Parts: sequence; C-alpha cells; structure tokens
Amino acid sequence: MPLQPIESYALDKWLILPGPREAVASAINGEAVAEYGLGEMDCAAMLDHARHVGGPALRAMTVHQRAAMLKALASAIIDRKEELYALSANTGATRRDGWIDIEGGAGTLFALSSAGRRELPDGHIIPDGKLEKLSKHGSWVGQHVYTPMQGAAVHINAFNFPVWGMLEKLGPALLAGMPVIVKPAPQTSYVAEQAVRIMLDTGALPKGALQFLAGPPGDLLDHLNGQDVVSFTGSAATAASLKSRPAIIRESVRFIAEQDSLNAAVLGPDCDSDSEEFELFVKEVASEMTVKAGQKCTAIRRAFVPAALMDLAQDAIMERLSGVRMGNPSDKETTMGALVSREQRARLESNIERLEKAATRVPAGGEGPSEAPKDGAFAMPVLLRADKPDDAAAIHEIEPFGPVATLMPYRDIDHAIALARRGMGSLVMSLFTADPAIARKVTIEAASFHGRLAIINAGNAAESTGHGSPLPSLIHGGPGRAGGGEELGGVRAVKHYMQRTAIQGTPEMIAAIIGEYVAGAPRIAADEHPFRKKLSELEPGYSMTTASRKVTLEDIEHFAQFTGDNFYAHMDEEAAKASPIFGGRVAHGYLILSFAAGLFVDPDPGPVLANTGLDNLRFVKPLKPGESIQVRLTVKSISRRGPTMGQVRWSVEVTNQDDEMVATYELLTMNEG
Ligand code: NAP
Repeated sequence: MPLQPIESYALDKWLILPGPREAVASAINGEAVAEYGLGEMDCAAMLDHARHVGGPALRAMTVHQRAAMLKALASAIIDRKEELYALSANTGATRRDGWIDIEGGAGTLFALSSAGRRELPDGHIIPDGKLEKLSKHGSWVGQHVYTPMQGAAVHINAFNFPVWGMLEKLGPALLAGMPVIVKPAPQTSYVAEQAVRIMLDTGALPKGALQFLAGPPGDLLDHLNGQDVVSFTGSAATAASLKSRPAIIRESVRFIAEQDSLNAAVLGPDCDSDSEEFELFVKEVASEMTVKAGQKCTAIRRAFVPAALMDLAQDAIMERLSGVRMGNPSDKETTMGALVSREQRARLESNIERLEKAATRVPAGGEGPSEAPKDGAFAMPVLLRADKPDDAAAIHEIEPFGPVATLMPYRDIDHAIALARRGMGSLVMSLFTADPAIARKVTIEAASFHGRLAIINAGNAAESTGHGSPLPSLIHGGPGRAGGGEELGGVRAVKHYMQRTAIQGTPEMIAAIIGEYVAGAPRIAADEHPFRKKLSELEPGYSMTTASRKVTLEDIEHFAQFTGDNFYAHMDEEAAKASPIFGGRVAHGYLILSFAAGLFVDPDPGPVLANTGLDNLRFVKPLKPGESIQVRLTVKSISRRGPTMGQVRWSVEVTNQDDEMVATYELLTMNEG
C-alpha cells in the first residue's frame, strides 16, 4: 500500500518535495506510516511569498481582526480534533498526551486571541508605556510604539508536541502581523501537516500567511535578513549551530531559542515524609517521568530531597512508577505511551549509559512491567540515584529526553539552591514547600536561573497545573542552557515579532500616529454631551469641560458620616494642621471622585452602558474646604468589543479654581453603537 505522503504548503499550494522519499515509522509498531520528499524546496521563493504577499495582507488587518482569525483557527482545531488524535496515537502519544498537544494548542490560540482583543488596541500600532515629556513647554514628546516586523517568521519545531509546539509560536506571530514558515520536526510532521490543513480549510488565513516545509530546510536560513525572526525549539546543539550561521550573525536576525534543560524539583527542608508536600513531590516526579513518555522539555530531570528522606522518596517514587500501564495508546488502560522513534530510544539509551557513570539505576519492582514492549519505540521509566550530587557533573549536563529522572540528596537549602543552579539555566523549577521564607530565599537566589518557578504545596494542590505545564498567560523559556529565549506570557509573546521604536514629535503628531489622545494634543470641543454620543460617533480627543462645584466643610462632614471615613485629615483640624502634607482639613479623595462623577455624568439612559473601572488614579493636590473643582473629560482611546459595543477610555482631569490639577485618572466605560 502506498504510504501517506507528507506534503509541504508553499506559495499557497500543497506539494510533496521531489526526489527520494524518507519514511516515518509508527512509534507503536515500527511500521512506516507516512513519507516525505528529500528534494530541495525553493526556500527563497517561500520567503519572498511570505514577505510580499502574506506580510502585507496580515499588516492590512487590525490587531483585533488578527485576534479573531486566531479564534477561528482554534475553533477549527477543536471541531476536527479527532482527526489529530487518530494520527497522534502513531507518534506514541496517549489520549492524555494528545490532549496536551491538540487541545492545549487550540487553548493557547484561544487565550492569545482573547488577550489580544482585551489588552491590545484595535489598530496597527501598539503603544508601549507612557508619553515621555522631553521639553519644558511640552511640544517635544516621545512615545515608544511596536509595529510588526516586515519579514517572515521562521519556526523550527521539535518533534514532541507537533500541534502545541507549532501553535504556541504561530499564534503570537500571526497576531503581531507576521507571516510564518513552519519547519516541523520530521518524526511527527504528519500530525502538524493535518493541523495546517485544518487551519487553511477555515479560509481565515490570508494568502502567504502560513507556509509549511515538510522536508529538509535546505538554505532557508541563509536567505534571512534583519526583518525576519527565527523561533527555534530543539536541542542545544542544533540551536548553537543554527544561531552561528553567517546570515543570522551578519544580518542580526532575531533568534529565539527554546532548548533542552535540566529542570529541577526540590522538596523543601520544611517537609517530612508525612507531609502533603512529600506526597505531591513524589506524584509530580513520577508523573513528569511518564507523561508523554518523558519527552517534555519541561520534565523534571533532577529531583532533590533532604538527605534524610532519600530512601523514603526513592521507594515512594518507585511505588508510583510500578502502577504505570505502558502500551498501545489506543488501549484505554494505557497510561504511558512510547518514545517517538527507535532512533530516539537509541539516543536515550546512550544518554542513560553516560548518566549511569555518575548515578545508580534503581531496580524496577512492584507489579509494574519489568520490560518495555518489544515492538515500536517503548522505553521503561528509569529512576537514577546520585548520592554525591556535587560530583555528578553528567547529571547536571546531559538531558535524557525520555522517562528518566535522577534523585539526589541535599544538606540544606543553600546546597539545594546551588545544585538547582548547576543546570545553568532551565525552563522551570518546582519547589515543594509550605514555608514562605524558603520560597522567598529560593526566588531571590535561583529565579534568575529559571524561566518559571512553581511553588507547590497543600494550599494549591487541588488547583495547581503542576511543574511541567507551560501556560499561555505565563512566559515559557529560560536563560543560558535553556536557550535564553522567551515565548508566550500573554500579549508579551506578540512583541517578539514586532520592533519597538521611540517616536519623537509634537503631542499632536504622536496622537495622530497612535490614534489616541495624549496630553498636550488638540482636543475637539464637544458639541453634545459625550455620553449621548454613540460609540461610532466618538473619536479620540472629543472633550467636554463641566461646570464647577464648590466643596464645603459640610460636604466633607456629610461624606465622612455617610461613608464612615473619618480619617483625621478630613475631620480633625488640629491633627491635619500638624501633618506635613495637608496643613489643615482637606476633602476626601473619594469625595472628589464622587463629585467629579456628579459633574460629568449624564443621567438618562444612553449609549454608556456601564462604568467598568478606573485606572491610573492620582490625587495630585489636596482640596481645602471652600475650594472648587471642575472636570475635563476627554476620549483617550476607543476599543471595539464586537460590532455593537466597545470600551471607551476617558482621560479625566479634575482641576481647582486656579486651574491646578487636583486629580487625574482614566475612566473606563462600556458603550453601545
Ligand atoms: P533537534 O534535533 O535539535 O531538532 C529540532 C528541529 O531543528 C527539528 O525540526 C530539526 O529538523 C531542525 N533542524 C535541525 N537541523 C536544522 C538545520 N540545519 N536547519 C533547519 N532546521 C534544522 O531536536 P529534536 O530532537 O527534534 O527535539 C528534542 C529536543 O528539543 C530535546 O532536547 C528537548 O529538550 C528540546 N525541546 C525544547 C523545548 C523548549 O521549549 N525548550 C520544547 C520541546 C523540545 P530535522 O530533524 O529535519 O533536521
């Protein structure tokens, strides 16, 4: 029977690379399941298509339109997930492993889509930080902005999570407005290929936005320039060789690397063998060894316990491992699948051999399997034990990419921290402790060696997502050995595919560029109360100044009595006089806010549906009894939340009778129309 060809998608067409073919074997029985071509792809043409067709089309869309596109892609993956699960079983993945990959991948796109719509403006430019005043009279100001890079994002992926690994990079790049060329790892590229087909079938992607290179990467990296971005996931050795390619160095190509790392789990010195944290630690070590057959970049490779607990921890981990049911992922009973390939198993065995020079293998026991099934690429979980961790250099340097971890003792928390840092940069470290002082010490002394630090204890056991799960809202990556890259982290992820530029000019110019009102820019005098205007009729700069209102001592006393806020600064003249700040009784800040609302609110039902919050509140100058306030309300920015609704951010400036600033804040309302 002819094998399923794994096709590439280049210049908006599916094709199999010419020349000889390479078969991909099932991880379950070793039989060939698919094949890809080994011939050369015209990589320069793919890059050209991405840069000149995909890029302009994506950049013509607004950020929110691109966010909606991600949602459409994620929904399609969920709707057709069973097609992916069926293929995924051949890679050795259990249903649970597949869930992390397939539904976890779609979930990442959903999360990015929603963060993009909630947290980024609906335009083509993303302002970064506040307006910087650069001159005395305010005519020379600066604003940092992000705009999409105008090249192609080249994503080189590892084999272990063909869907999640692709989508966690694809989502941020597309949301930023960059077209993507995906180069999957061959071993699981038939799963990635199907995910690409599903996404293309939605019709949501503009032409040239997504291309897929199933085959040798050829000279792809040699054509890159400073507008392109490489995001690589794989081994440290491959990353080092790709990073040092002449074009990457010469053109200063942004290179994000996510590499193997020697992640640590530490059982805190405060935990004894009866503690819940001990149980949680043991469960996590065993689970990280077996989920995805240990082929997770975040898996626990080094497990540290107080020296006195070594034997107990070893026995407890081995007991848990004895409950593992290894076998065909299609069987419901199976809890651990296979490695991706026999080559991977051979690589793992050779790494275990090297590790065994520094550690001892704990013999398997209990009722679990004593050996792995012969067919396919199954590998038994292996717990190693290194009683002299300071001398066991190999354990801190060699990543066994499979169901392997090494248990090691430590003397005290300083020793545990020193050992964890021997990984020289890891994606994640987990600390099992109930003692905040230990957690704080570890954070101060070891966080800089890690991209993520998970502090797990009885207080979060029921809800914790555990040691090994990268989450879309948190960054994924790590320093040094882990590659020095960063991915995910909510909308932070988008910025890796954008350039930050400092724009200088007049406030008027900056406001026009970013599409937001900024202080000092011209305002549009309201011809009608802004709360009576539909969303579509409002624009940044639209501004109204209210009548003024005197704030009396009776108002202050009434407010104090009504709310119960009898702080001395409002109620005790003598104490207020003695204060270095007030010099006498002053109005409550909240009274000023309430009176401000009373001045600008339009009472009748209208397009303003709700007041949803208030940001950046500052009380600038105290207001004495007998002084007056007046409010200037200006539309700062408008962010649509669908066709009929949106959020308006208002700049609110409360001034006194001498036009001095009393309070400033940004008011958020949900508006119709
Ligand atoms: P790998 O051998 O380094 O390969 C990674 C990717 O690089 C593959 O797609 C590979 O494709 C590609 N590649 C190799 N040479 C290339 C070249 N000259 N030009 C362009 N692409 C090239 O890693 P792997 O064995 O697939 O993955 C396992 C490793 O990945 C483990 O060490 C694991 O820790 C790490 N990993 C890290 C993370 C993370 O987020 N930090 C996540 C998952 C996995 P070809 O095979 O076609 O060459």
